Amino acid sequence: MINRVIALPDEAATLELGARVAAACEGATVIYLYGDLGAGKTTFSRGFMQALGHKGNVKSPTYTLVEPYTLDDLMVYHFDLYRLADPEELEFMGIRDYFANDAICLVEWPQQGKGVLPEPDIELHLDYEAQGREARITAVSSSGESLLARLAK
Ligand code: ADP
Ligand code: MG
Repeated sequence: MINRVIALPDEAATLELGARVAAACEGATVIYLYGDLGAGKTTFSRGFMQALGHKGNVKSPTYTLVEPYTLDDLMVYHFDLYRLADPEELEFMGIRDYFANDAICLVEWPQQGKGVLPEPDIELHLDYEAQGREARITAVSSSGESLLARLAK
């Protein structure tokens, strides 16, 4: 199964999906997060980080573009590229370093970094659905397929 659709009736469901995806990650993973403003990309990221032991809040790094989280012996980089003017800015940020090693990268507004941003393992699309949201998860690498298989368990 390389494509899954999951109903998210409320915020708690989005947080839980973030937690489940975090638990299914093994090693370096790149996750693109698509969806309109308010669709739940940061909520998903908060559930993800908190499941890995992060105690504080998680906010979109709208102005700084990236927020690093040191979790036990794991690095997670949370990007929000909404305000990125030009994908080349990512080169000046030293984007390759973030995607090296065993880090996990969560990227909101990846379309803003097209051509420079490394390819993802999974893509998450969040859409408004009545009062809630609908998530569509697609594996786009072999390690992304393994991740989705673990998620299905
Ligand atoms: P984004 O990062 O995509 O702009 P946020 O996660 O910052 O979105 O905001 C999403 C908003 O929608 C929050 O107010 C959150 O409480 C709410 N929300 C998140 N998931 C759901 C859901 N499944 N159903 C209804 N509301 C949700
Ligand atoms: Mg956000």
